[in-house]
Amino acid sequence: MSDIVCLIPGDGIGPEVTSATRRVIEAAGVDIEWALLPAGTTALEFCGSVLPERTLAAIQGHGVALKGPLTTPIGGGHVSVNVTLRKRLNLFAAVRPVRNLPGIRTRFENVDLVIIRENTEGLYSGIEHEITDGVVGSLKVATAKASSRIGRFAFDYAVSRRRGKVTVFHKANILKMSDGLFLRCVRQEYAKDRDRLAYDELIIDNGCMQLVTDPSRFDVLLLENLYGDIISDLAAGLVGGLGVVPGANIGTSCAVFEPVHGSAPDIARKGIANPLACIMSGVMMLNHLGRTQAADRIRQAYDTVLADGDPANLTPDIGGRGTTESFTDAIIRALP
Ligand code: ATP
Repeated sequence: MSDIVCLIPGDGIGPEVTSATRRVIEAAGVDIEWALLPAGTTALEFCGSVLPERTLAAIQGHGVALKGPLTTPIGGGHVSVNVTLRKRLNLFAAVRPVRNLPGIRTRFENVDLVIIRENTEGLYSGIEHEITDGVVGSLKVATAKASSRIGRFAFDYAVSRRRGKVTVFHKANILKMSDGLFLRCVRQEYAKDRDRLAYDELIIDNGCMQLVTDPSRFDVLLLENLYGDIISDLAAGLVGGLGVVPGANIGTSCAVFEPVHGSAPDIARKGIANPLACIMSGVMMLNHLGRTQAADRIRQAYDTVLADGDPANLTPDIGGRGTTESFTDAIIRALP
C-alpha cells in the first residue's frame, strides 16, 4: 500500500534538494504518493501566506512530511515559518544524528552523536517587546510540561537506540529559573532510567569546548531550543558541514523530516547544493514509515558513493566538482 507524504519544496535550495530526494526514494522502488504543498517566501508570492492553512491541515491529516528549508528574514519581516510550523503541529522534539561519513575527511574520527532539541519554547517563544526607546526585552519561556516531555523523549530515544549516555548542555548557573526548571524536570525523568543509561550535565560554554576538543566522548545531547539550534550547526561542522546532517521533527501525531541546513540563498539555483542532508532526512522518514529495507539500501548507496570519493560525483562543499544532479545520479546508480 502506498503512503501519502506531504512534500514541501520550500525556499532557496529547497526545491533542488527535495526533488533529488524524491528521485532517490522513487528509484529505490518505494511506493509513495507525494502531496505537493506550499510554504515559505515562495508560497507568499502565489498563496498570500508563508504558511497556508491547507499545508498545515495536510500534514496533520497525512501525519508525515518531507520539507525543504524555509527562509527566515533577519531582524524584521515575518516570524520564522519553521518555528510556527513546529509550534502549530506540536513537533516538540528535533532529532539530528551527526556522524562521520565514509570518505569525508574531517578533524575528528568516531563522531556519532544524536542531538535532541526542544522545539517549542525557550527564546523561540517569539515574545519580544520594546520597553522604551532603545530598550527591548525577549522572553525565554520554560515550562515543566515541555521540559519533562523532551527529557522523557530523549531517554526513551537513547534506550530504544541502545545508546549509552545522555548529556544535557545548559546555562542554569546564570538562567537559574528557566534552565534550572529544565534541568530539574530532566533529572526527574532520568531517575526512571537510572539503571539503563548514563547521564551527565555540562554548562554549555564548557560543553562547546569539549565538543570541539573531543566530540567522540559524546553520545546523545539534550538541549533546549536555542542551544540545540546553535549546537546543531557546530556539530555539523565536525563531520563535513551542513550538507551532510539530516533532521526530524517529531510530535505526538505527526512528523516532519528536513535537513538541518537553511535555504542557502548564496548557492540557490546554481545546481551545486549538496542533496545528501535531505536524502538522509528522507532515509529517517522511510524508517519512521517502517520502510526499513529501502532506507538501508539508500544508506548503503550514499555510503558507497562517498567512500568511492569520485570528485566528479560529489558537490563542492565536500570537496567535489560535481553538481546536485551528478551526486543524485551516482547514488541512484549505487543502489544495491
Ligand atoms: P537559516 O537561518 O535559514 O537556518 P543559515 O544561516 O543556517 O540559514 P544556511 O542557509 O544553512 O544558513 O547556509 C549556511 C552556509 O552553508 C551557506 O554558505 C550555504 O551555502 C552552506 N550550505 C547550507 N546548506 C548547504 C547544502 N545543502 N549544500 C552546500 N552548502 C550548503
